[in-house]
Amino acid sequence: MNLSDIVLYLKAFKNRVKKADEISKILKNLKVELLKKEDEKGAKLIWCYETVLLIQTTYIDAFNKMKNKDYYKAWCLLERCEDNIMFLKSHFSIDNIFYLNFIEEQVGKFQCVFPYKYFLSPEIIIHEKECNICGSKISIHNYCGHRVGEIYDGKMCCRIIKKLEFIGAVISDN
Ligand SMILES: [Zn+2]
Repeated sequence: MNLSDIVLYLKAFKNRVKKADEISKILKNLKVELLKKEDEKGAKLIWCYETVLLIQTTYIDAFNKMKNKDYYKAWCLLERCEDNIMFLKSHFSIDNIFYLNFIEEQVGKFQCVFPYKYFLSPEIIIHEKECNICGSKISIHNYCGHRVGEIYDGKMCCRIIKKLEFIGAVISDN
């Protein structure tokens, strides 16, 4: 299976034969091959396709949870869908060939019908964090140069919290 087969698979969101896990493994292997050739751009594109697949499978999962009346789990999956769409948007045009516009719209609509009105926002002091790309400790005086949200070696850059202090929590209506 090559990259154009994968694109066809991602387009056939509503009518698939192969399992998503299989495609995910193929994408992972393709990324390893591209990274061996130091093809950063190619690895970034694979990350985009991996994220498209993740959004699609998370949405299907959320939908099935709602059908089975497992509403809280569905709520969490819808949120993950929303987050991943947001991450992908900075690197990839969200059009409807992969049903991403459809999923984005549906996620919003489903979230609106949930009866949840109050949420808990934690207050945290971060004492120690690391870069997930290079492992450097990050502080005001020490910045490794990797930007959060950017894709390096086919991975999205984020910070890993190593030490934190919980201060409190606020009940919010949003
Ligand atoms: Zn770094």
